[in-house]
Amino acid sequence: NELLLRQAEKLSVIGELAAGIAHEIRNPLTSLKGFIQLLKPTLSEQQMYADIMLSELDRINFIVSELLVLSKPHNVQIKSLSLVSLLENVLTLLASESNLKNIPIHTSFEYAPVISGEENQLKQVFINIVKNALEAIDGHGEIMLATSAKADQEVLITIADNGCGIPEELIPKLGDPFFTTKENGTGLGLMISSKIIKDHGGHLEIASKRNEGTTVKITLPIAHEQKGPS
Ligand code: ADP
Ligand code: MG
Repeated sequence: NELLLRQAEKLSVIGELAAGIAHEIRNPLTSLKGFIQLLKPTLSEQQMYADIMLSELDRINFIVSELLVLSKPHNVQIKSLSLVSLLENVLTLLASESNLKNIPIHTSFEYAPVISGEENQLKQVFINIVKNALEAIDGHGEIMLATSAKADQEVLITIADNGCGIPEELIPKLGDPFFTTKENGTGLGLMISSKIIKDHGGHLEIASKRNEGTTVKITLPIAHEQKGPS
């Protein structure tokens, strides 16, 4: 299918571009950080400003490194991961967007298992889903991100928003490649996300009510070594 190919090509060009830019940003960032550390503030107020600048630079650095890694899908590496740290990293990446839109993302990490998987792919999933939730809210709204234990060595991750919701007749179309209702959407987020979750032995389901909101439920198996909460 030619359309599919062209889209895939576009995405890989964007990925390469993002990786290139991320790389270029890191060098001046390192230099800025070095020079701020050389400043010898004489007032405690100045010291406070320098500290803020350093922590903001660390944040940029983190985001840029993530971008660099995420845009390189090559090195697939399955390892043991702390689910909650992974989710917290995702929230850090999306913090500017949620702050800008004034949409709080509440968390309830009731269960914090080790899972086994590909870190960048799983991050990609949660970035996609939380971004969808942010994009579904116009004006006031909030997002809840929660983890809980499920029977049979599984963890349930719930991402709920009280945004625009999805009309019932469109629900069967979710996850179809290129199905989007957004002007600048790709319609690839859910398709890729459910594929990644399936590859990890889990599943993804969506419940939604128009004008009320959407809940995405993802289950993943926990890593074998650990005992469930029984
Ligand atoms: P994109 O975000 O690029 O449109 P996705 O595959 O991520 O592609 O989502 C496909 C479509 O599913 C969206 O265009 C939107 O119509 C619907 N959708 C997904 N998540 C939500 C949500 N949380 N709230 C409302 N609609 C959603
Ligand atoms: Mg999306």
